[in-house]
Amino acid sequence: MSNENIYRLAVAGVQQLIPYKAGKPIEELERELGLTQIIKLASNENPLGPGKKALAAIQAALPELALYPDGSGFHLKQALAKKYALDAAQITLGNGSNEILELVARAFLTPACEVVFSQHAFAVYPLVTQAVGAVAVVVPAIGYGHDLTAMAQAITANTRLVFIANPNNPTGTLLAQADLEQFIGALPNTVVCVLDEAYFEFVSQDAVVNSIDWLEKYPNLIITRTFSKAYGLAGLRVGYSLSSAEIADILNRVRQPFNNNALALVAAEAALTDDKHLQRTIANNTQGMQQLTDGFKALGLEWIPSAGNFVAVDLKRAGLPVYEALLRKGVIVRPVANYEMPEFLRISIGTPTENQLFLQALSDTLANV
Ligand SMILES: *Cc1c(COP(=O)(O)O)cnc(C)c1O
Repeated sequence: MSNENIYRLAVAGVQQLIPYKAGKPIEELERELGLTQIIKLASNENPLGPGKKALAAIQAALPELALYPDGSGFHLKQALAKKYALDAAQITLGNGSNEILELVARAFLTPACEVVFSQHAFAVYPLVTQAVGAVAVVVPAIGYGHDLTAMAQAITANTRLVFIANPNNPTGTLLAQADLEQFIGALPNTVVCVLDEAYFEFVSQDAVVNSIDWLEKYPNLIITRTFSKAYGLAGLRVGYSLSSAEIADILNRVRQPFNNNALALVAAEAALTDDKHLQRTIANNTQGMQQLTDGFKALGLEWIPSAGNFVAVDLKRAGLPVYEALLRKGVIVRPVANYEMPEFLRISIGTPTENQLFLQALSDTLANV
């Protein structure tokens, strides 16, 4: 048997699966181009880094690393339960909120199930759907955002799961709270709804979505959040979901017993107490969003107004050559052709200096490509 034939042994969805393409790591670009001054605005990470409290908690936990972590994540769940005034039994911890998305797919989907999500929505939704052989129903976006009316119409007797990203990545679009609740409230009780709020902390307070209040009414609702973005802990992989205790119980049945490592658990718990770092992060984001969009305006470029810590800029020409020219200048951003947005690039908000370096590199590139 040739090695090629091994692929035929994989389940159908996996045979066709194209893996998630992450933002280019800084080190990889260093190796490839021998550059040293590289800035990465490609994965919506926190440009200020992790907070001091998280780092101190990691330091303090190092001597215990020979021991397995607490598989129930007791302390972190207690802290989250207190923060959100929920029962700890409603919380599921994941190795990043990505893992929660996968747990939901494994727990609720079979190849007979349809999964509804929007065009231009987060790339992990089609991946986890296909991996379990379920059927993706992609609903055309409206103004780059979710068309909730069309998504509601796409629900059939076979629909088992809906993914909504709010704000969405890579578009940054935000749904109105009232529209969202109406959509969730109208779902048949045979449909589970994942409301992915990875960028929740960046949403300005006057647009804030009180989705947690809905949990009491909707036992089929799963809200996911993460420590990877605003909390600056992407490298540790910790996210969570808030749901009915019943859904948490179901997800708990399919997760690995120690899915969060010991350092992630203590760092996330400490990060929750570091309001100063969070506020600094949000302020940097607000300022940086202004800086980038002012820069786009000066270059005559349009962008999709974003509620997240990134912005999709419309180059009105192929994005890939611009992405590659930026790489040669040591600036890593994110091409989004795989999101059916070939003329856009997604830029994560950086520090003021990084934003400035990026804008200069973009300006130079557009003059020469
Ligand atoms: C980044 C992101 C996530 C998950 O990130 P984790 O690091 O796995 O927590 C989930 N959803 C969206 C929309 C994201 O952009």
